[in-house]
Amino acid sequence: MTDTLVTLQAMEQADPLPVPMSAPDLTELEREAVARVLRTASLSIGPELASFEKAVAAHTGVPHAIGVSSGTSGLHLCVIASGVGAGDYVITSPFSFVASANCILYEQAVPIFVDVDPETGNLDAALVAEAVSDFERRRKIENRWLPPSHRRERRGRLKALLPVHAFGQVADMQALTTVARSAELAVIEDACEAIGAEYQQRRAGTFGDAAVFAFYPNKQMTTGEGGMIVTPHAEWDQLFRSLRNQGRDVFDSWLAHSRLGYNYRLDEMSAALGAAQMQRLDDMLAQRAQVAAWYGEGLAGLAGIEPPRPAAATTFMSWFVYVVRVVAPADRNTVMRGLAAAGIPSRPYFSPIHLQPFIRDQFGYQRGDFPVTEYLGDVSLALPFSGVMRQDQVERVCSTLRAVLPS
Ligand SMILES: *Cc1c(COP(=O)(O)O)cnc(C)c1O
Repeated sequence: MTDTLVTLQAMEQADPLPVPMSAPDLTELEREAVARVLRTASLSIGPELASFEKAVAAHTGVPHAIGVSSGTSGLHLCVIASGVGAGDYVITSPFSFVASANCILYEQAVPIFVDVDPETGNLDAALVAEAVSDFERRRKIENRWLPPSHRRERRGRLKALLPVHAFGQVADMQALTTVARSAELAVIEDACEAIGAEYQQRRAGTFGDAAVFAFYPNKQMTTGEGGMIVTPHAEWDQLFRSLRNQGRDVFDSWLAHSRLGYNYRLDEMSAALGAAQMQRLDDMLAQRAQVAAWYGEGLAGLAGIEPPRPAAATTFMSWFVYVVRVVAPADRNTVMRGLAAAGIPSRPYFSPIHLQPFIRDQFGYQRGDFPVTEYLGDVSLALPFSGVMRQDQVERVCSTLRAVLPS
């Protein structure tokens, strides 16, 4: 055994109150639901998927829900349904998890990043309105909106708007959908971090032509791996069911493929887990709000830490992560190191998409291109958070923070 391993094990044994970065909220209900599937022979394309889809459609209040293998695969199918093809443009946020831009790249389309609102970290609707208007008038596009390495080749059309509901707070959808409608853009909500969230009393997923929820184990609810598309359009519902299933249409036989499709199916074990989690979703979201409230109390008045403050339009916050801003006199990286030394994990979150190495290589972005996103990327720190976190764990994080902050 290496010395590091020995030290790590010693540390773990010595730690009376471990605090994981995140943890799924699972009970007997979930374990029994998955075990029940394993006593049948129906492990894919079965009744569990149908009931999970029904539960998400009912909770969201959107007529159609289509289970898929991940949030990312769901977003990819939404980009396809929006008619986005090679060289087309899609406006999206650079302050997000990389999947919200990757799904555009999968179709050889070009993400047009627009900077975010400093309060919410979601797309700045006024800037999006300027961008859309410039694209419509074919004005200032090259120097203001296109990626640096694409400024000479203008071949695409602006086709869609893909707002991200970051950290469980819905983007400014009233303004964004108005802009999109006026320019006939498809709207795809990346609601992967926002199941159950409300904006002006309306749920995430009800604003766009389609929206996607994701169920990776760190999300508000999990299926292991998995995602769900919701859409008001019956034709899109059919299209998504075909695309996730190798391009088969409902009336196709197993070896008939009407279009290029994918294997983006969600298996029955995952779907059963998801259906069970849906029964507990409201309780789980309430528990996460409780944990966030404990943090809010524990961090109040700490110099150098700005706790999250949901916007007025957010009538229900679906707490996905607990992200604070570490500002002067504190320094984010010093705080992270101090927490780590006490055995408490934390993560910079998000790391701006336009500065990811492969995006920089392809599109020629540099620091300075999206100042608000970069500022948020520099100061944001996700603290350990989950619905099963106990008050003593939250207090331990807060007291450690207090100790590592400059006094
Ligand atoms: C988690 C997440 C996704 C992708 O979900 P996966 O299920 O991991 O593919 C997409 N966008 C955002 C903003 C996310 O947080």
